[in-house]
This record gives sequence, C-alpha cells and structure tokens, in this order.
Amino acid sequence: MASMMQPQIILLKEGTDTSQGKAQLLSNINACTAVGDVVRTTLGPRGMDKLIHDDKGSVTISNDGATIMKLLDIIHPAAKILVDIAKSQDSEVGDGTTTVVLLTAEFLKEAKPFIEDGVHAQNLIRSYRTACTLAIAKVKELAVSIEGKSVEEKKGLLAKCAATTLSSKLIGGEKEFFATMVVDAVMAIGHDDRLNLIGIKKVPGGNMRDSFLVDGVAFKKTFSYAGFEQQPKKFVNPKILLLNIELELKSEKENAEIRLSDPSQYQSIVDAEWNIIYDKLDKCVESGAKVVLSRLAIGDLATQYFADRDIFCAGRVAEEDLNRVAAAAGGTVQTSVNNIIDEVLGTCEIFEEKQVGGERFNIFSGCPSGRTATIVLRGGADQFIEEAERSLHDAIMIVRRAVKNSTVVPGGGAIDMEISKYLRQHSRTIAGKSQLFINSYAKALEVIPRQLCDNAGFDATDVLNKLRQKHAMQSGEGASYGVDINTGGIADSFANFVWEPAVVKINAINAATEAACLILSVDETVKNPKSESAQGDAAGAMGRGRGGGRGRGMRRR
Ligand code: ADP
Ligand code: MG
Repeated sequence: MASMMQPQIILLKEGTDTSQGKAQLLSNINACTAVGDVVRTTLGPRGMDKLIHDDKGSVTISNDGATIMKLLDIIHPAAKILVDIAKSQDSEVGDGTTTVVLLTAEFLKEAKPFIEDGVHAQNLIRSYRTACTLAIAKVKELAVSIEGKSVEEKKGLLAKCAATTLSSKLIGGEKEFFATMVVDAVMAIGHDDRLNLIGIKKVPGGNMRDSFLVDGVAFKKTFSYAGFEQQPKKFVNPKILLLNIELELKSEKENAEIRLSDPSQYQSIVDAEWNIIYDKLDKCVESGAKVVLSRLAIGDLATQYFADRDIFCAGRVAEEDLNRVAAAAGGTVQTSVNNIIDEVLGTCEIFEEKQVGGERFNIFSGCPSGRTATIVLRGGADQFIEEAERSLHDAIMIVRRAVKNSTVVPGGGAIDMEISKYLRQHSRTIAGKSQLFINSYAKALEVIPRQLCDNAGFDATDVLNKLRQKHAMQSGEGASYGVDINTGGIADSFANFVWEPAVVKINAINAATEAACLILSVDETVKNPKSESAQGDAAGAMGRGRGGGRGRGMRRR
C-alpha cells in the first residue's frame, strides 16, 4: 500500500503568490498601457507638463519622460521595466524618453488582441524583432548626413536640432536663444567627452533672457572673510593655484597634547603655530600665483595676507568646480604647499569676479587646456529653473550626439509615418500570420504623430489620413511630411527644420521593441512572501518577481 502513496512535491513555500499564463500577460500589458497613458500627454511641443509632489512636500514640474517615470514610484513589476528603459534612453541618448515609453505601450496594446485570441507570445516576439530590424535599417537609409559642411553652416543645423528638442519644454518660447547657447557651449568643448565640462549654474531671479554663456568655468563666490574686499577682482593671465588644504590659523591644534614645564615655553608654541601658517602662506605667494583656490577653508588671517599682496583667494570651493578649473586651466590640485612648481599652476586669459543678478560669480574665461563652458541660467521660480536645467541637458546631449553621428531625420512624426508605410508594404510580401503582426507593429508607430496631434488639439484622424496619403506617394517626395504644429495641417518637417538626430529614433525603436518583447515573454510572476516580511521594505523591492529583475538585466545589453 505504501508504495502507492505519491510523495507530495512542494515546489514553492506556502503562501507564495503566483499567477501565470494568459491572464498574467494581459495584466502586465494593461499595467504598461496605464503607464504609457500617464506620459502620453507630455509628448511634443504642445505637450503638457506634469506636477509631481511627494509626501515630503517637494514639488517637481517636468515634461521629461525619464524624470516623470523616476518620480512616479511605480511598483508594478512589469511596468517597472518601462521606468528602466526611460532611464536607459536618457543616459544613452538623452532625449526621446517619452517616445520610448509611448512606443512600448503601443506595441503592447497592439499585441493585446492577439494574445486574447490565443496567439502564442513567441510568435509575436519573433515578428516584432524582425520588424524592428527592418525599421532601423530604414531609419539609417533615410537619415541625412550633415557632414562636410562649414562650421557656420553646421552650427546653424545643430541649432535646429537643439531647437526641436527644446520646443516641447517650458523654455520652448526662447528656444532659438537657448539653442544657440547650447550649440556654442558644445562647440566650445569640442570632442571632449566629459559632459561635466559643461557646467550649468542656476541663479534664481531675473529673466530667462538674462541667462548667459561663459567660455570657461564659473561658480558662485564662496564664503569670504574680512580683507576680501581689498583683494583685486580681476586679472589678466593670472597663475592659478589649486589647493586641498586649510589655510587657517590653529588648524594644527587638533589632537595635539603638549606638556610644558615652564610657562615661558608657551609663547614658543604659539609662535610655532603662527610660523607654520605664515610659512604656508609665503610658499603660496612665492609660487607666483595670483589666484588661490582651496577646497577647504581659507581663514581671515590668510585672506588679509593675500589681500596685502594683491592676490585673490577663495576657500571652500566645491570639489566639482575645483576639478573643472583644474581641467580647464591646466593645473593640478595640491595637497601640500611644499615645492610648488610652475607645472602645477593653471592659467586663464581673464579671471574676474562679477555681479550676476543678486550673486557674485568667479569667472575664469579663455582657459587654455581643457575647453569648457558654463551656462548661467536665470529665471523666476526654483522649479522653473530646475526644469530649464533638465531641458538644457536634453539639448546638450542631442547636439553632442548630432556632432558625433551627424545624421538627422525629419521629426514631427514624419520618420515614424515613413517607417510605418514601409513596414506595411513589406508585410504584404509575407505569407502567414507574421503579416498581421508586422502590420500591427507598423500601426503602433503611428502613435507618435497621432499623439502630437492630440496634444495640440488637432483632429488626429484627419491629419493622419493626410499624412498617410503623402507618404504613400510613389515619387517619394512626401517622405518627410510630418505634423505641422502651428497650423494643424501637415508640413515638410525637413523644410521646417524640425530635425532629430537619427540615433534618438534608432535607440528609441530598439529599446521599445526590446522592452515590449521582454514583457511579452513573461508569463508568470512569483511573489515570495518570506523574503518580504523578513527583511522589510528594502527586500520587498527585490522580491517583486522576475519582471523587475529581468528589467535590470536588460539595460546592460
Ligand atoms: P521626448 O521625451 O520623447 O523627446 P518630447 O516631448 O521632447 O518627447 O517630444 C518629441 C517629439 O516632438 C518628437 O517626435 C519631435 O519630432 C516632435 N517635435 C518637436 N518639435 C516639433 C515641432 N516644432 N513640430 C512638430 N513636431 C515636433
Ligand atoms: Mg525631447
């Protein structure tokens, strides 16, 4: 009898929550569509902004897909993948974050009826991947190179790309102004890859138009002691000494214990302290430097000492700023004042302390070695300047991408329509189910022009019909027609200079397809109750099932 009893196989702990199969897939698709609906309305020049506030009361206003996704605190494991791709799009190309989320959501939405009808997800995935490869090849084919143009011409073209990026942002009203500034900044640093060489400093107050570009490094005046006022505030070709030491009296006092047998010795100890600081200061002066910056404090004694010798000094300079000065002016940060040789001193054409709005700024311009630029942003509310900074970051990334890859495609949904048409045509040559799937993929791409219309209050059906007709023209002359955001009709995006770097589109299509396929390939989520209760909330984030974990893995591709 005993041999007939089957041993019970326990695979998962009691209380483990699983759901699987079609229902799980559909629930994941619904979650992602819901996320897509959140960011949907921010797309394009007429897109709306989102105001997000958290329980700590901090308020962020943003139009940037990645920023919104980050702040939304999404807990659905599958929908989290969307947060990840928005982030990766942001770090890879810097723009197109809303696009990528929207495309993923739309791919999934198109897949949903098939899944409901019992199509196996792997069939869909295979067709989506094929469609993606075809689409990317087509984007590359349609991209127009801006290589081989003169510098002036190139600058103009790059400014157009920057303006397209900025047109959807809060500062869109001043897009030409900022686009030129961004292009100048990117051109100034040349092919240097360190993004932090373009600094953005925010000074609340004033008008947007008061923002300006410094061809060099700028930072806010640091805290200063008495004597500072007597220091000169402008130098031509000064030597710059960068320090990471304290120039303060009594800085030696810490942890020192001295036993005296005779009260008269006390004076010698005090004298020694003074000698140490004077010795340090003398060495700084001897080095010939006219500007002394330190990451640590420069006290009142030192400030006065330098003032008497016509030297400018600033203590407690932020590390980031000090490093940028070092990179730009060509010096090295010193941790000791012994043996300061000329090689470690930096220089610049003009150093100046200047009033900007309500703040004083230290500005180093015309730096010889590392080329760098700083944008000083002005504007009303804090949230406004912060959003402006994020927008400029997008624009800077775009211009840098364009400089590197130097191919552009028409924006305003033109490229999306063209690929959509191409895929539809291609699908007709395929026999079998795959035809339907590729057709759906093509249809999903139309979400970009449709959403641009919806957000601007145009009749999307009407505009899309006109666009389809243009793009279907045999001669191919309609290929660059996109949504005309000003009139509500259609217009040649190329002629109107609505341009996007090709790499933004390529990356967006690629990432969105990958994410959609990833979500389609998950048919089971397992929630392990033990790890959650044992390790509290922190572990909870990790125990949320395979979806989230795979999402992180994907980014490494
Ligand atoms: P993302 O975060 O994806 O970059 P945006 O809100 O910046 O989203 O919107 C980008 C979309 O807006 C692109 O498809 C771009 O082609 C389109 N776009 C930008 N400027 C214009 C314009 N002047 N006319 C029409 N479309 C535009
Ligand atoms: Mg954008």
